[in-house]
Amino acid sequence: MPRVRFIAATLALASLAASFTAPSHAQSRPGLERLYILNCGEGVAGDISRWSPGVNEGKSMDFVDNCYLIKHAQGWMLWDTGVADAIAAMPDGQKPADPRMTHWKRPKTLANQLEQLGVKPSDIKYVAVSHTHPDHVGNVEMFPQAMLLVQKAEYEWPGANNAPRFKPEHPVTKLEGDKDVFGDGSVTIISTPGHTPGHQSLLVKLPKTGALLLSGDAVHFQSNWENRRVPALNTGQEQTRTSMQRMADILAKEKATLWINHDKAQRETLKMAP
Ligand SMILES: [Zn+2]
Repeated sequence: MPRVRFIAATLALASLAASFTAPSHAQSRPGLERLYILNCGEGVAGDISRWSPGVNEGKSMDFVDNCYLIKHAQGWMLWDTGVADAIAAMPDGQKPADPRMTHWKRPKTLANQLEQLGVKPSDIKYVAVSHTHPDHVGNVEMFPQAMLLVQKAEYEWPGANNAPRFKPEHPVTKLEGDKDVFGDGSVTIISTPGHTPGHQSLLVKLPKTGALLLSGDAVHFQSNWENRRVPALNTGQEQTRTSMQRMADILAKEKATLWINHDKAQRETLKMAP
């Protein structure tokens, strides 16, 4: 067969194959549409050596607290819920019991930001939290119908006086490792234990912006990430280092950008919603 005819025949076969596979491709096309960054708190950490033992002693730092609202064809998802909306009504914010910790304020409520975006709390299908510290679970019960996506290890971690971490009647899926939330690879919970027993991060593959890894509190600010520093209060020191390495591997493999939840300098480079 002359070479040109052979190529033409091969191309015809290839396009035939493409037409057969097209419908399933269309079905599995990721349904992720948008990600909104919400202001879920602003604060001042009294002594950041709490997060970087032996370094930055006595140095205070401004912290921010972000929530992320994800619009997917299958429904809305909220990643972290920030400090409690009730703090917005406190003129001087919420002072911590330990002055080295974070003094939080709430310039905007989560409820108000959702309203501005035209999203009702009952529209939220999934609420996933990075972990159960109060600056991340402050508004979980604004969404009593939403399916919680939490690691089993975090859910079962006893709170103060053995109190449960969540209301027992709240719908929950207890995860044991990573979870492809919508089944299309666009939003994946990544298990990153160490800060707490069932800490998790979130890999989001946006159609235009590209891949992002939302840190949760696997790291609190940039210099701690660069130096792999582990906060003294973490429940697993070695576990934290393993999780940080896993995150670095994912960033490289997915060509993803790390978004550090509490890092104010980074938030100032990003466009907040609405
Ligand atoms: Zn935090």
